[in-house]
Amino acid sequence: MANHIIKIDYPPERMAANARRIQAAKALKAVDRTPVWVGTYDRYYLAQRGVGYDEYFSGPETYLYHKIMNQVWAIENMPDDRCQEPEITIYLDFENVTNASAFGCEVVWHDGEPPWALPTLSSPDDIDRLEIPTPHAGLWGKRFAWYEIVQHNLWDYRLIFNGEEAPITVLPPDPDTEGPFTVAQQLGGIDLYAWLALYPETCHQLMHKITTGLVQAHDYTRRRYPRPVRTSCAVVDDGAEMISAGMYRKFCVPYDDQIYDALGQGMADGRSKHMCGKIDHLLPVLVEHRISSLWGFGHVVEPEVVADALSGRCWLRGNVSPVLLLKGRPEEVEQAAKRVLAAFARYGGLILADGFSIAPGTPLENIAALVRASEAWGPVEPAGSQMVNASWSGVAHTASGG
Ligand SMILES: [Zn+2]
Repeated sequence: MANHIIKIDYPPERMAANARRIQAAKALKAVDRTPVWVGTYDRYYLAQRGVGYDEYFSGPETYLYHKIMNQVWAIENMPDDRCQEPEITIYLDFENVTNASAFGCEVVWHDGEPPWALPTLSSPDDIDRLEIPTPHAGLWGKRFAWYEIVQHNLWDYRLIFNGEEAPITVLPPDPDTEGPFTVAQQLGGIDLYAWLALYPETCHQLMHKITTGLVQAHDYTRRRYPRPVRTSCAVVDDGAEMISAGMYRKFCVPYDDQIYDALGQGMADGRSKHMCGKIDHLLPVLVEHRISSLWGFGHVVEPEVVADALSGRCWLRGNVSPVLLLKGRPEEVEQAAKRVLAAFARYGGLILADGFSIAPGTPLENIAALVRASEAWGPVEPAGSQMVNASWSGVAHTASGG
C-alpha cells in the first residue's frame, strides 16, 4: 500500500483552457488570451518550500519525494497556465551541471544554491586528450542509477487528482539540453573565447567531441527507454551570445544541426533553441537556422526586436525581466508584460514568461500580474505565419532551466 497519498484539486475547465491556449500558441493560432508559463524550476520550489539542496540530493528516495512535492506545490500555487493534464511529470536533473560532469568537470555542491561545474580544460592541449564520454559517465551514470530506484519507489505514491487516480510519470534519463557550445564553455571557462579566435581548428575538435558524446548518449537512452516518445529536441546555447554572428555560424550552427538531425527529425518542435543572453546580432542566424521555437529569450533583448526577427516563424517564450519580477511592484510587472504582448500581437506564437528563470524568492503576486496583463490584453489573432513546421500540434516538454 502506498505510504504517500497525494490529493490535488484543480478546476477542470481551467485545465482544459490552459492546454488549449498553450497548444494554439505553439501552433501560431488564435488564442483567447496569450498563455502565461514562467520558468520555475526546482531551485525556486525548494526555496519556497524551505528545503536545502543537501537534503534534496541526499539520496534517490528523498529526491523523488521532493521532486513530486515540488510539482504538487507548483500546481497548487503557481498562478500561471502550466497545469494542462491531471498528472504529475518529473524529470531527474541535477540542475545545469549534468552534461558538463559527464565530460569531466568537477561539480561543487552547495546547500543554499544549485551546484556549479568547474572548468576541466586548462589549455587547448587538453582538448586533444579529452575523451568522448560513455553514456554512463559522471552524473549521466548517477542519473541512470537513480532513475531505476525512483521508478521502483513510485509504488509508494498514489496521486488522486480531482478525485480520480492519476499518473506520476518520470521522464527517461536523457542527457540535459545544454548543447555543444554551452558544454564547451563549461569545460573551458572564459578561456574558451580566446581559444576560439586563436586555435579555431582545435576548438572544432572540441565541438566535434562534445557533439558526438551528446548524440551517442541520447541515442543510447532512447534505445534503452523508448517511452514516453520524445516530442521535442531542444538545444541550449547559453554562452554563445558572447560570440559574433560569424563565429556562431562556424562554432554552433553545424554542431546544433548534428543534434537536430540525429534527434529531432520528424518532430514538429525538433529544432528548439534556448538562448537567454543578448542575442540581437544572432537573430538573423536563428532565422537561417530554421529554429522551431525560442524558449526563454532574455529580457536583455528588446521584445520588439525579437518579434521583428522571429514572430510568425516559430513559437517563442519570454521575456519580462526576472529582476523586475523579483523586486518590482505588480503594476510595473504588468506594464512590462503589456509591452511584450504588444510586440507579438500581430503574429501570435507567444507564451508570456520571464526571460529567463524565476529567481528564488520571487513573489507569486508578480507572476499573477503577468496573467492579469494577458487577461487585460485579451484575444490574439495572428495575421499569418511562415512556420518551420506548419503542422505543429503536439505539446513539448522542457527539461532543466537554462
Ligand atoms: Zn539561459
